[in-house]
Amino acid sequence: MKKLIILGSTGSIGTQALDIVRANPDKYTVTALAAGSNAALLEAQAREFKPVVVALFDEKAADDLKIKLADTDIKVLSGADGVCALATSEGDMVLNAIVGIAGLRPTLAAIEAGKTIALANKETLVTGGEIVNRKLKEKGVKLLPVDSEHSAIFQSLQGAPCGSLKKIILTASGGPFFGKTRNELQNVTVKEALNHPNWSMGAKITIDSATLMNKGLEVIEAVHLFGVPASRIEVTVHRQSILHSAVELSDGAVIAQLGTPDMKLPIQYALTYPERDMCFESLDLFKVGMLTFERPDMDTFRLLPLCIEAINRGGLYPTAINGANEESVKLFLEGKIKFLQIAELNEKAMNMCENKSDFTVEDIFAADAAARAVVRESI
Ligand code: NDP
Ligand code: MG
Repeated sequence: MKKLIILGSTGSIGTQALDIVRANPDKYTVTALAAGSNAALLEAQAREFKPVVVALFDEKAADDLKIKLADTDIKVLSGADGVCALATSEGDMVLNAIVGIAGLRPTLAAIEAGKTIALANKETLVTGGEIVNRKLKEKGVKLLPVDSEHSAIFQSLQGAPCGSLKKIILTASGGPFFGKTRNELQNVTVKEALNHPNWSMGAKITIDSATLMNKGLEVIEAVHLFGVPASRIEVTVHRQSILHSAVELSDGAVIAQLGTPDMKLPIQYALTYPERDMCFESLDLFKVGMLTFERPDMDTFRLLPLCIEAINRGGLYPTAINGANEESVKLFLEGKIKFLQIAELNEKAMNMCENKSDFTVEDIFAADAAARAVVRESI
């Protein structure tokens, strides 16, 4: 029995992880569940999976949950500290499926407590990659990628000799606006941006997929996970989302992982690694018929090259563009800015970042706050 701590259990990744647990009651137990503010769903999950402890970031929602769960002996924690404490509670593995930089501190707390990490929260590595990698080494802790592309890269590298990775081929679906011109993107609506062709995901990452910010964040994530510079990561638009990414090895062999676009496989692989488990849906290549690969349009979708610039500049630049993006996506979802303003605001905030090459977690949160302020004050 593997004891799981799931952070972000009410979200897209979190609920799919719980589907896996539900299908395998003999393999997993859930010891802890945390979310942001969704007390109703967390209550239902707590009653079904019977964890020892639950937490909500939102203090008021946590008070509400405490009342709802008063007839059980499940402990209820609250606030950012409560979520971090829960990440270090009894359990073998922490699945971090929180959205945004809010996931960074819980990841660090879990590593400190020696827990194996299954990481969906890419913002952890985008903002704190250097610190996380140092801590993983220091504590001898394993971190397994859940993001489908990074899971594919990780799977493709199984058995590859150390030092043989020449290039990463990172695939992108292209999102709902692939092929559109800047002019055509002027007035796109929130509804259109949320209409992803292949994946059903949380709102923030769906908008990031429409702007290609998600692919930019994933380049930075790959730099930290696999120790290669951005210059050795090639982004290719692959509309079918069947080839989830690939690696080119020193002898020119290209190894890829293919599958249906279903996050359950990468989530499950992180939970069972190095073992393999049940199959949710077989890939039928005859049904797929054709796999296509095209270059991304870096002029229209500026956030991809801007993220590459951020990681090449290093230091706090990735944190700045990530923080600005969290803020501008929120404003876009609230209907307060236009689609193309997301990239403009992110670029402005990144360029105003006061960089430090050697930085602490506090510096990261200060850079994040400064970038968010630039965005808010610019509209
Ligand atoms: P969702 O928006 O669907 O879910 C986010 C989860 O995080 C919810 O449970 C939410 O709780 C919780 N949450 C938000 N803020 C906090 C906080 N401060 N403290 C604790 N919990 C919090 O997002 P996704 O599941 O789509 O994405 C989660 C992460 O996984 C992101 O980093 C994303 O980039 C990454 N990812 C997602 C993929 C996908 O297919 N969805 C694919 C690859 C990566 P509440 O419901 O209460 O708000
Ligand atoms: Mg991905």
